[in-house]
This record gives sequence, C-alpha cells and structure tokens, in this order.
Amino acid sequence: MNLLLYGAPGSGKGTQANMLRTHFGIPHIATGDMLRAEIQAGTALGRQAQPILAAGQYVSDEIMIGIVRHRLGKADCAPGFIMDGFPRTVPQAEALDDLMHELGKRFDRVIYLKVPVEELLHRLSGRLVCPTCQRTYPPQTTACAADGSALVQREDDKPEAVRPRIEIYLDKTVPVLDHYRHERLVSEIDGRGTIDEISSQVLAAVNGKHSSPLMGKSPAAGRAQGALPEKPGDGAKTKTA
Ligand code: AMP
Repeated sequence: MNLLLYGAPGSGKGTQANMLRTHFGIPHIATGDMLRAEIQAGTALGRQAQPILAAGQYVSDEIMIGIVRHRLGKADCAPGFIMDGFPRTVPQAEALDDLMHELGKRFDRVIYLKVPVEELLHRLSGRLVCPTCQRTYPPQTTACAADGSALVQREDDKPEAVRPRIEIYLDKTVPVLDHYRHERLVSEIDGRGTIDEISSQVLAAVNGKHSSPLMGKSPAAGRAQGALPEKPGDGAKTKTA
C-alpha cells in the first residue's frame, strides 16, 4: 500500500498519517520531520535547511529529491509507505514519478485533507508540538498525552512564518494535486470534524469507497482550497492564491 498524503500546514496530516501507519504497519515518511531531525542533529544539511524552514520557505527540489530517493530505497519501504510533505512542487512530482517507476511501484491513493484557510490560520496560531513523537496540541496544553514530554512551539508555527507557509502551499503545492487528478488517484476529504470522523473517511478512501468530488474537473479546481486573507490592517481585500 503506497499512499500520498496532502494537506496544508495545520490540516491534520500528521494525525492521519499516524493512524494510517498503525493501521497498515507501514512507515510514515514525513520530509518535514526528516529535515527537523537534520537540524536537531546539527548536520550540514540541517544547518543549510534551518533558516529556510524558519522563514516558511521551501528547501530546494534537488535536496528534497535526494532525501526522498535515499529514504525510499530503504528495506522498510518494500511493503509500502505513507508519503507526507512530498512532492510539494511539480519538479518534485515528476522526479517522484521517475523514482516510483524505477522501483516498480505505484501510488494506490492520494488523500487530500482540505481545510479552509481561515481555519488553518486559527489552528496554527499557538499550536504546540511534542518534541518526542511530533503529535500536535492546541495552545495552553502542557504535556504530551502519549509520552508526557513538555510541549514546544515549532519555529515555523510562529506568526511570522505561518502566512508564508500557507501562501507557498497554495501557490506551489495545491497545483501539484492536478498531477495526480489526471491519474484519478485523488480523494478529497473535509479536514474539519472529529479525528475519528476524518480517520474513517480516510480509511474508506484508501479502501476505495470514496471518490473525489473534484475528479475529472478542470485543473483550476485544484485551487479551490481558497485564498489567503490579507493581513489585518490591509483592508477587506482578499488575495487570490
Ligand atoms: P512540514 O512539516 O511538512 O510542514 O515541513 C516543514 C518545512 O520543511 C516546510 O515548510 C519546508 O520548509 C520544508 N519542507 C518539507 N518538505 C519539503 C519539500 N517536499 N520541499 C521543500 N521543502 C520542504
């Protein structure tokens, strides 16, 4: 079972990836987590990536493709994997096609967790994360319910990085879904609701009981996630992503 998980920062991707990992017993490959581990370990890649992540921008395609190529070559990916955070650009999607072809693999389903931009901004402001298991929690939570670790705020969840992250996601990553829509692989799921409700829809989609309302529509439909509202004080305008 090879799955691709899409969703903006704050869409609940990590939670659903954990559920899928437990359910199918296959690894969760999260490129953001891999970069944060490099930063934590102080490697050359980590030092290069740190300011890019802090600003909410994207690490170069070349670096990301190299990381994913290396990771997918590992033995634990043989029975399948859940890819999260990659591909984020069209060149990354094209490189992943080539890599999957080389490995003799194909994706079974692409899950897109869709959440309105206003809700994403609300969820990310003040979000806390467990440094041990990466579970996320609402503001004011003190300790991780799973392992008791003290929670921290991710550097890129600070207000100055949240908007650029969502902006770049709408601009560069939502269009990548069209790549998979052409292959009729995308299931679009409303990322609002309880975790259990969303999990059961995700599982139904993976098991082939859910089809995307956007399937077969124009490529522009991929931009339906919405536009990023202007910053407070910019007036009532909205900017189209
Ligand atoms: P995430 O945890 O998926 O939100 O990723 C955190 C950050 O890591 C992103 O904001 C980017 O700076 C970087 N990153 C993760 N995956 C990629 C990717 N596929 N391409 C470029 N940058 C990435």
